Amino acid sequence: RKFVYDFTEGNKDLKDLLGGKGANLAEMTNLGLPVPPGFTVTTEACKVYLDSGHEPPALRDEVSAHLDDLQARMGKKLGQPDNPLLVSVRSGAKFSMPGMMDTVLNIGLSDASVAGLAAQAGDERFAWDSYRRLIQMFGKTVLDVDGDLFEEALEDAKHAKGAATDVDLGAEDLRQLVDTFKGIVLKETGREFPQEPREQMDLAIRAVFDSWNGDRAKLYRRQERIPHDLGTAVNICSMVFGNLGPDSGTGVAFTRDPASGRQGVYGDYLQNAQGEDVVAGIRNTVPLADLERIDQASYDQLMQIMETLETHYKDLCDIEFTIERGRLWMLQTRVGKRTAGAAFRIATQLVDQGLIDDAEALRRVNGAQLAQLMFPRFDEKAAAEQIGRGIAASPGAAVGKAVFDSYTAVKWSRSGENVILIRRETNPDDLNGMIAAQGILTSRGGKTSHAAVVARGMGKTCVCGAEELEVDTKRRRLTTQDGTVVEEGDVVSIDGSSGKVYLGEVPVVPSPVVEYFENEGRVSPRLPLEGPAGAEDSDDLVKAVHRIMAYADRVRRLRVRANADNAEDAARARRFGAQGIGLCRTEHMFLGERRRHVEKLILADTDEEREEALRTLLPLQKQDFVELFEAMDGLPVTIRLLDPPLHEFLPDITDLSVRVALAEARHEQHENELRLLQAVHKLHEQNPMLGLRGVRLGLVIPGLFTMQVRAIAEAAAQRIEAEGDPRGEIMIPLVGTVQELELVREEAEQVIAEVRQATGVDLRLALGTMIELPRAALTAGQIAEAAEFFSFGTNDLTQTVWGFSRDDVEASFFTAYLEKGIFGVSPFETIDKDGVGSLVRNAVEAGRATRPDLKLGVCGEHGGDPESVHFFHEVGLDYVSCSPFRIPVARLEAGRAAA
Ligand code: PEP
Ligand code: MG
Repeated sequence: RKFVYDFTEGNKDLKDLLGGKGANLAEMTNLGLPVPPGFTVTTEACKVYLDSGHEPPALRDEVSAHLDDLQARMGKKLGQPDNPLLVSVRSGAKFSMPGMMDTVLNIGLSDASVAGLAAQAGDERFAWDSYRRLIQMFGKTVLDVDGDLFEEALEDAKHAKGAATDVDLGAEDLRQLVDTFKGIVLKETGREFPQEPREQMDLAIRAVFDSWNGDRAKLYRRQERIPHDLGTAVNICSMVFGNLGPDSGTGVAFTRDPASGRQGVYGDYLQNAQGEDVVAGIRNTVPLADLERIDQASYDQLMQIMETLETHYKDLCDIEFTIERGRLWMLQTRVGKRTAGAAFRIATQLVDQGLIDDAEALRRVNGAQLAQLMFPRFDEKAAAEQIGRGIAASPGAAVGKAVFDSYTAVKWSRSGENVILIRRETNPDDLNGMIAAQGILTSRGGKTSHAAVVARGMGKTCVCGAEELEVDTKRRRLTTQDGTVVEEGDVVSIDGSSGKVYLGEVPVVPSPVVEYFENEGRVSPRLPLEGPAGAEDSDDLVKAVHRIMAYADRVRRLRVRANADNAEDAARARRFGAQGIGLCRTEHMFLGERRRHVEKLILADTDEEREEALRTLLPLQKQDFVELFEAMDGLPVTIRLLDPPLHEFLPDITDLSVRVALAEARHEQHENELRLLQAVHKLHEQNPMLGLRGVRLGLVIPGLFTMQVRAIAEAAAQRIEAEGDPRGEIMIPLVGTVQELELVREEAEQVIAEVRQATGVDLRLALGTMIELPRAALTAGQIAEAAEFFSFGTNDLTQTVWGFSRDDVEASFFTAYLEKGIFGVSPFETIDKDGVGSLVRNAVEAGRATRPDLKLGVCGEHGGDPESVHFFHEVGLDYVSCSPFRIPVARLEAGRAAA
C-alpha cells in the first residue's frame, strides 16, 4: 500500500484516500494552478495508526522520499539553517470537520534556522514573528498546552512595550517572546520545544491523526452522521507567506455568494497577514473587491482562476489563497457550503450556463434544504426595535433568550427555552451551544468566520460581525451603540437573511416558497425588476424551486399522498401536490364533542344502547367522508377504521376513582360514576398500545366497523350522485393474521352491497390493510389474499420490531443511545433499513407474489423523511404518504431517488 501521494499524483475523486483538502490540492495542481508543492499522507495511514497505535512502518520512509523530492524541487532543505524550507501541516478528512486539529504553520523553524529565514526574507522581525507563531500553534495543538498562556504572554509583551497591536512589536521584542514561549512549553510539558525539523513534522502528523478522535470532532461526526472510521489525511505543503509586508496578504473567496447564490465577487482579504487570521475572524478584513485596488494583477489572476475552478468543478467553489510579495498562491479549494436558497438558485443558474443538466440540478438540492426554505420569516411590517445589524451569514428567523456562553445555551435549551447564543466570535468549543441555540449572533468576524461557516453547515440562523454591538461575555450582557443593554435572558430576534438584530420578539410571516406551494405551484406574476430590493431574490428563488420541483415531478416514480383527516388539511395537501390521501385516521374524527358518543358505545350494556350510539355516530361520520371525498375528488382516499387504544376515549381512571371516593365520603349520589368506574376498570389495560385497538376493537365491538364502512359507502354514493368522483379505500389497522382481515372483509362487503342496493349506485371501494405488526409483515403473502393494498405503518412496525414504546422512548433513553452512537438518528424518524426495512422489503415481495397488482404504500412518519423516501423508492412501493407540509419534500426526494 502507498501511504503518501505527491500533489501531482492525486485528483479530486480520491477524497476517501486523500481527504477533501488533499484531493482538491492535487486537482488544482494538475489544472496548472499555482499551488505550493507538497504531498498528502493518506487516510489509510491514519486508520492504521488509530487501529494499532503506531504509524505504519513504511510511512517514515515514504515521507522521507517525498520530502527529498520536495526539497530537491524547492532547492532548499527542511529547516536548513542558511535557507530553510518551511512547511505547513494540515488535517483534511473526506468531509470538512470543525473540531479537528487544523493547521500548524512554519514547521522547520528552529533556533538554528530563524536567522536563515530572516536573511531569505530580508526581514528579521518577520522571521521572529514566524518562529513565535510556530511555537504557539505547535504548543497549543500538538503539545496540548493551554493556548491562553501564549495569548497572555503576547498581551504582556505588548503591554510592556505600550504596543497597540502585534505589528508594533519589533524583532527584539519577538525574539524575547520566543524565549518566553519556549519557557511555557518547557514548564507545561516538561520538555524543550523540539528543535529537530523532522521531529516537528512527525509530531504534527501524529497530532492530526489523534485529533480525529477529539471530543469535538466526535460530536460533530455524530451530528452530521459522518462515519467514525474514515480517518483523516494530512497535507504537508511548502509555506508561502502572506505576512511579508503590504504587498502580501491572505484571503478567502467564493465563486458566488454562498448566502443568496448571486453571482459576483464574494470574499474577504487581509493585507499583511498569515493563514488562519482570516478564518478566525480575529482582525477585520476588507471585501475581496478591494483587492482590485490593492493588487490589480493578483486580483485579475484570481478572477481568472475562480472561473477556471467553477467551470471545472461545475459548482460553487470556495477558496483560500495567499499573496506573497505580489505572487498569488492557491492554498485550498472545495465545492463550497451554501444556504438552502443559494443551493436552488445556483443549481438552476448552472443549468442555464450549460454546465449541468436538470437531473444533476435535482441531485444538487435536497429535501432538508427545501424544508428550511419553508420556515417562516420575520414580518417586515411589524414594529420592531432594531438594535444592530451584522452580516447575514445563515438565513432564517430566530427568536430566543440571550445567552452568552455555550454552557448556558445547552442548559436552558434542555429545560425547554429557546435561546440565541451571543459571542464575540465562536470557536470549536462553542459547538454544543450552537447546536442547542435557535440562532447565533457574533460581534466579530465575516462570512467565513467560524460561526458563519458552522451555522450554515447546520442550517442554523446566524448573524455575525455585528460590530456596533459590544458583547461582554464576562458580565453576560451586550450593549448597543446607543447604550441599550441586553442582559442574559432578555429576548432578542435575529434575521439571518438581512443581518438585522432586534430587541424582543418579532412576529414571523410565511416563506415565499410556502406561498408558492399554497398557490398550487404557480409562480406569481410579480415583475422581478419592480418592487423593493430583496423581492428579486425571493422571486428568483421561487422560480428556481419551481423548475426543480417540476423536474422532480416529471422523473419520480413514487406517488405522494397526504396523511389528512379533514377537508381543510386535504385541500392544503392537494395544493401542495398530494396525489390522494394515504391515511385518514378516523379516531381524529371522534374527539371533542363526539367523544361521549364513543364512550357510550364502548360502555353499552345492551344491544339497544350500542345501536343507539352507533346511530348517532353514523351521520356525523358520513358527513366527514363526504367532505373528504369532495376535497380529494378524483384522487384515492384511504380511510382507516378506528384504531386507538380504548382508554383514549374513556375518563381517566385516577380522576374517576377520586370522584367516586369524594362522592362516597360526602354521601352523595354516585351510581353513574360507580358504574363507569367499574366499566373502566374492566377495560383497563397495562399496555394499551399492545391491547384492544385496531382490528381487535372492530371484532370485539359489534357494529363499530360496519357503521364506519356504511358511512364511507353512503358518502361515496352521495358524491357519485352529485357527479363527483370519490375513490375510497377502506383500510384495516393492526392486522396480525389474515383471518382477522377475512372476518372484517366479509362484513364490509355485505354492507357495501346493501348500500349499493339501497342507492342504486355502482360503488367500488377497495379494501386493504396496514402492515404494522411483525407478524403481518412475516405472513404478508397470506394477508395479500384478502387485501387489495398494503400500507406500511412504520410507526407501529418500528415500535414492535424494536420493542420500543413510541410514546415513551424519546423522553427516556434515546438521548443516551444517540450520544453513545448506537444510532445516529431515531429509528422513529429515519427508517431502520436493516431491521424494520428488511421486513418491509420481504413483505413487498411476498405480497406481490400473491397478488401482482397489490398496491403498496407507507403512511408512518417515515413517509416524509428524505432518507426513508429513497429507501421506499428502492424497495418498489407505489407511494409514500406524509403530513401536508412535508409533501413538497417527499416529492423532491422521490424525484432525487429516481434521477
Ligand atoms: C403507523 O403505525 O405507522 C401508522 C401510520 O399508524 P398510527 O401512527 O396511527 O399508529
Ligand atoms: Mg399504527
